[in-house]
This record gives sequence, structure tokens and C-alpha cells, in this order.
Amino acid sequence: MSGRRKLIAGNWKMNGRHEDGVALATGLAEKLRGAGTVPFDLLVCPPATLIWPVAAAVTGSGVAVGGQDCHVKTSGAHTGDISPAMLTDAGCAYVIVGHSERRQDHKESDALIAAKAAAAHAAGLVAIICVGETKEQRQAGQAGAVVASQLAGSIPAGATATNTVIAYEPVWAIGTGLTATPADVAEIHALIRADLLKRLDSGAAVRILYGGSVKPDNAVELMAVPDVDGALVGGASLKVADFWGIASACL
Ligand code: PEP
Repeated sequence: MSGRRKLIAGNWKMNGRHEDGVALATGLAEKLRGAGTVPFDLLVCPPATLIWPVAAAVTGSGVAVGGQDCHVKTSGAHTGDISPAMLTDAGCAYVIVGHSERRQDHKESDALIAAKAAAAHAAGLVAIICVGETKEQRQAGQAGAVVASQLAGSIPAGATATNTVIAYEPVWAIGTGLTATPADVAEIHALIRADLLKRLDSGAAVRILYGGSVKPDNAVELMAVPDVDGALVGGASLKVADFWGIASACL
């Protein structure tokens, strides 16, 4: 036993309208309430428009709510952005930063991601910092070096096991149906753990999630890999049965 409580996190991305978002959140809240004491934390990260109603729908159930991104500032002239304080106000306890889709679509750098994570910490949020190599980088044998470099650049001063979670998400496995093999996952998670042990006093307690086409039928195998402390789930987090099926792999 690692002593680290598993975290099953759903990233809804740019999906969901009011009715289906609330139905999904309500369904998960019912599952968690019905399950009694469970050995994992359950988190949903809806699009910004749904944070308030989803937070209301899961109140008192134990399901946590997170944002998918945040700005580095608390308020001001930043059209379209959301501050960490706004996420806290809306009922969030977590925020994802540095997802590969933001690294790609918005050209986010490691330095910006570190600043976002620091701002999230200052607002009392747990930052889920995402790292992961592209297909080309893996084929070139650079996966470990890329992840090490992203960790060095994206983890801010002040990170601890309480305010930080790392998500290893190989870019080529996200939304593709391709999953890293347990051996590949074990290798990179061991590298991340060794890095955290060197970097942080509480490095042994930081949770490291795997993400990339996690489904109910591969979750048991992936969640059993050493140093896999949960999952960051995209597509399969949009259906109660699938997401709960993944969480059930931790029972
Ligand atoms: C993600 O976007 O974080 C993700 C892992 O997506 P999927 O589960 O769909 O591969």
C-alpha cells in the first residue's frame, strides 16, 4: 500500500449543456452516496459554464469539482479568462493546468503553467499539472527526457503533496483509443516519482495520475501499476456508467 488515496478525475473538456451536465453530475453523486466508504476521491472538471450548477448538484455527495484551466491573475482585464479565485468561489477544489490541448492550442509554456499552478495554490486550489510526450518524441526515445523537462519547468515553488497532483498523459494516447502499456506507464511514473522525491519534501505523497484512453476495461490493469495513484479521464468521463466503472477499478 502506497498510503496515497487514489484520485479519479473526469475532464469533460468542451462538452455538455446544462441538462446533461447536471444529469451526469447527479448520477455520479448518487453512485458515490450509494457506495458508502470508498478508497478513492472522485472529481469532475466541467466546462466553465457548468461549474456552478454541477457544484450545486454534487453538494454533500463527496464528488469534488474542478476547473479545466485558470489565469494567473485574480481579476482584471483578461477577456475570456477565469481566475483561480473565481473557481474557488464557484465551488471548485481543483484545477487542471498544462493539459496538452492547452499546451498545443494555446501555446502554453512550462513557465506559464508553473505560474498558473502557483496562482491556483494561492487561491487554495489543488493544481493538477499535466505532462506527457508526443508520438514523435516517444518514437525518438525522448519520452523520459521530455517529461523530466516539463516537470522541471511546470512545478512551482511552494508545491506540496497537498496542493499538487501530477498527471502523466502521453499526447498520443489522449482521445485516440491507444493506451500506454503498463510497462511504459510504470517506467514514466517511476521517473516522475524519483523527480518528485528530489524536488519536494513531500514528494513521496504526491499523487501521480495516468491519463490517455482510460476505459472501464483497462482501468483495473492501469490502476494496479506501481506509482499510478489514479486517472485523468476524458471521453469515458462523460457517461456515468463508464466513469463509475473506472472508479470501481479502485475498489
Ligand atoms: C484527457 O483529455 O485528459 C484524456 C485523458 O482524454 P481521453 O481519456 O479521452 O484519452
